Amino acid sequence: MEDPGETSEECEQCGLCCKVFGDRITATVMNLYSWMEDGRTDILRHFSAGMANGTRINGADLAPEDLGDVMTIELRDPERGGYQAGCPFLRRVERTRYICSIHTVKPDMCCNYMPWVYGETYFPRCRALGIRKKKSSWPRLPDQDPE
Ligand code: SF4
Ligand code: SF4
Repeated sequence: MEDPGETSEECEQCGLCCKVFGDRITATVMNLYSWMEDGRTDILRHFSAGMANGTRINGADLAPEDLGDVMTIELRDPERGGYQAGCPFLRRVERTRYICSIHTVKPDMCCNYMPWVYGETYFPRCRALGIRKKKSSWPRLPDQDPE
């Protein structure tokens, strides 16, 4: 059973990274296949696949045999086909707390996103990163010093 409140240990669920980057998320072909197998048309319909022959197919209308011809996968408005203003899966649950409503089956790029680690996904405005920095800036007590 999916628990949308669940998140990684480090994340403070401020939702900022999803607000800033959520309109540009993509999925892998394996993500599409998993959602197909699980009947998750509610997720698939938010993605649009650019096909090898130049056509575009809504994720919910894709068949498994189409997947070999998928060239690009973009988040798109399921009704009008235009770009999304933000991630449709982000939910505000408290005044300053947000959750991913598809947390356990979210796209690979979201699973791999670790803004508190220096590298490609580093996001200096991440609240968890700020808390980490504060914690690490406390001076060590003499009896905590390694011998
Ligand atoms: S799918 Fe979930 S984790 Fe990814 S941007 Fe949207 S709300 Fe954030
Ligand atoms: S910005 Fe950092 S703390 Fe906020 S939701 Fe993203 S990962 Fe979590």
